Amino acid sequence: MVFFRLCSLVLLLTAAHGVARPQALKPAAPAPLPLLVPLPLPQVVPPPPGLSAQASALSPCAAFAATLPNVRRELCEAAQLQPGSARSVKGQPLWTRDILPAKPGLRVLVVGAIHGDELSAGSVALHWIRLASQPPADTPLPIHWRFVPVLNPDGVFARPPTRVNASGVDLNRNFPTPNWTRDAKIYWEKRTARDPRRWPGPKALSEPESSFLHQQMLSFQPQLIVSIHAPYGVLDFDGPYTPPSRLGRLYLDQVGIFPGSLGNYGGVHKGVPVVTVELPNSLRTPLDSEMRQMWFDLLRWTTERLAPSQFGR
Ligand SMILES: [Zn+2]
Repeated sequence: MVFFRLCSLVLLLTAAHGVARPQALKPAAPAPLPLLVPLPLPQVVPPPPGLSAQASALSPCAAFAATLPNVRRELCEAAQLQPGSARSVKGQPLWTRDILPAKPGLRVLVVGAIHGDELSAGSVALHWIRLASQPPADTPLPIHWRFVPVLNPDGVFARPPTRVNASGVDLNRNFPTPNWTRDAKIYWEKRTARDPRRWPGPKALSEPESSFLHQQMLSFQPQLIVSIHAPYGVLDFDGPYTPPSRLGRLYLDQVGIFPGSLGNYGGVHKGVPVVTVELPNSLRTPLDSEMRQMWFDLLRWTTERLAPSQFGR
């Protein structure tokens, strides 16, 4: 297919650009320019004084660039994030970005940093927003993307960053899977030995962040959910359809299900396929070329397995 040949060419030509590194230690090198489509001009909105460690209400980009690895402010500004309809426990906006083609054939929801100490997950989501907003003209399956690059901003901006939200809840155990009240508690007590990093919360959807994502699932009705995590370096999958065997260098390794997890709730109980990306490192992104390869592998699988004809439309 011309699309994928073109993508391969881009990957080949741009492979030399990718260098992942911690953001805060050195001045950033110039951004690698995309070969096909120029970057939109960044709209820089400075945060109000005193909010440098948090996302401001106007733009989270100064804070994201200072916190997320391999995220320059220009990349974040170009993502044109919009505040969602809810805020975190500490009142930070839950930022979103919709990318809507003229005739979308599929709706895909991408979620990053549901665990706040997996910083690279938020970074990859922002890099993927750039790729999603520059689809080649012959994209075989136009997709309406909805990104929530950082679902757990309170965890991301905590010092040190925390897996849980500001209420101490593991958001990825807070979704309303059947028998949640019984199973999530038993699992936490018996299997995790009451690990505070894995507390499922007082009740399902008790948290504004998980509740917001659940609301997105109801209103947006995604046909695919992609959830980005770290640092296990594998690909997981829940739900119908043949899973992708690999995304870039991440290979499929279905590790099981947990009470209250997004994969369990969305994939097993709601029948919406959930691709869980486990990046290999929480504090460093993959190389830029690898992030592109993962993205194009995701597009290829989505096109092959989730084309609208498979939904009878
Ligand atoms: Zn995680």
